[in-house]
Amino acid sequence: MTLSFDPDSLSLPIGHFIGDRLIAAEGVISMHRPSDGKAYAGCPLADADMVDRAVETARAALKTSNWGGVRPRERLNVMHRWADMIQREAVTLARLEALSSTRPVGHLIDGDIAISAEQIRFFAEFADKEGSDLVPTDDGNLGMILTEPYGVVGAITPWNFPISMAVWKLGPALAAGNAVVLKPSEMTPFSAIYLAELAVLAGLPAGLINVVLGDGQMTGNAITGHPDIAKVSFTGSTRAGSAIMENVARTGIKPMTLELGGKSPQLVFADADLDKAAAAIATSIISNAGQACVAGSRLIVEESVATPLVDAILRHMNGLHPVPTWDASARYSPIISDKQRQRIHSIVAATVSAGGACLAGGAPMDAPGYFYAPTLIAGVDATSPAVTEEIFGPVLTLQTFRDEEEALSLAEHPTYGLAAGLFTRDLSRAIRITRSLQAGTIWVNRYGRSRDHILPTGGYKQSGIGKDLGREAFHANRKSKSVLISI
Ligand code: NAD
Repeated sequence: MTLSFDPDSLSLPIGHFIGDRLIAAEGVISMHRPSDGKAYAGCPLADADMVDRAVETARAALKTSNWGGVRPRERLNVMHRWADMIQREAVTLARLEALSSTRPVGHLIDGDIAISAEQIRFFAEFADKEGSDLVPTDDGNLGMILTEPYGVVGAITPWNFPISMAVWKLGPALAAGNAVVLKPSEMTPFSAIYLAELAVLAGLPAGLINVVLGDGQMTGNAITGHPDIAKVSFTGSTRAGSAIMENVARTGIKPMTLELGGKSPQLVFADADLDKAAAAIATSIISNAGQACVAGSRLIVEESVATPLVDAILRHMNGLHPVPTWDASARYSPIISDKQRQRIHSIVAATVSAGGACLAGGAPMDAPGYFYAPTLIAGVDATSPAVTEEIFGPVLTLQTFRDEEEALSLAEHPTYGLAAGLFTRDLSRAIRITRSLQAGTIWVNRYGRSRDHILPTGGYKQSGIGKDLGREAFHANRKSKSVLISI
């Protein structure tokens, strides 16, 4: 069976998923397909009452199912069945995702969806293995750290990898014994609804996952400010993260995991394997058209090898074609919206006006939809807009250095510290630089995640607070209680 599909043929779940069913709702936020710009649906807008209904449903489900208190292996088993179901229904899920988002349908089945199923299994395995601790005290006392779920977690996710981002929140929260009210991005809401539907079909007690659709202003605020949302788990821009902190501070303090923006450097030393470095660097900025929080968007290369490295990167950047995400042959993603494409172009144009030179791209692609050509800009410095701003598009800047000290100083960004890449064959230098770089993830002689979900991800500086993935994400979904018993 081919994965390609007719984008006008899909039936969309337009509503909110609460308890065990879709509550149909009017689509009010206009949605356009990134691949051809066509208006195709409206996203409903949950108000405070709808959010309240979802939170109440989650609370009731926790009570009746005793999800946080059942034998942990039962939580694990249900989550494995959910992962099985996701893989069985991967084609439907992939098509829903490819229609609204920038993810090519051909990348989804063995990529985002297979990895998400694996991550659900990964988190499920913590349910009956990670627990409370007995701690050393004097022998007149017994000390324990008991952990327990928070209750209802409010999760808010972005549009760039909709299924993956939803699973990063749902997996650890459910494994740790919580219920979730999830708000996906208003631009890519439908795959999250289907994930919730599949969870119920797999036997997850209804009401443990509720999906409300809407924007940040109304629906997002109602979630983060809800008195019965015990913890907020957010992935998105630093701007929205800061607005959420403000709302939480105003409405009642609660713990937050914030996975925010980035402007990650890739450092290449003259002794590196340049072909390998070029492939990794180009992939990181071409993949999803640079719409990834960890996109390695600032290339910082030792002067003496800049020319051969840039030539090799350009070979990877050239020859990409704009093909709609619903065509199984698509390899290169469109930009999510016309507005975002205009923003990308205005940052590129401002950088060029300030003295930058485009060695590739620098313009929208001549095709329907919102495609933007892979772009490489030289002649920039630390004040150029393309170097300071998180562009969230396929734009790579080029800076050169003469020594290690200069490389490190260029790598440092005043605002962001999400990830960094480093290419060198000198082991001592790799360790030295890894220790100096101020970022939550460092990749050496590679760029991008592997399928080792045990490695947590999260930011330094304004790139965030707390971690997704890893043991850390499971523990971030449980609170701890210190107990001291006099014997
Ligand atoms: P965004 O911040 O505009 O929106 C993200 C989500 O937050 C959406 O669901 C949106 O409706 C909601 N939202 C917006 N304002 C809100 C508010 N005041 N209160 C509550 N919810 C609000 O981000 P985006 O454009 O969807 O995604 C791109 C951003 O996400 C980039 O900055 C990227 O770096 C970041 N991101 C970070 C990670 C990470 O792991 N650090 C991963 C993916 C994306």
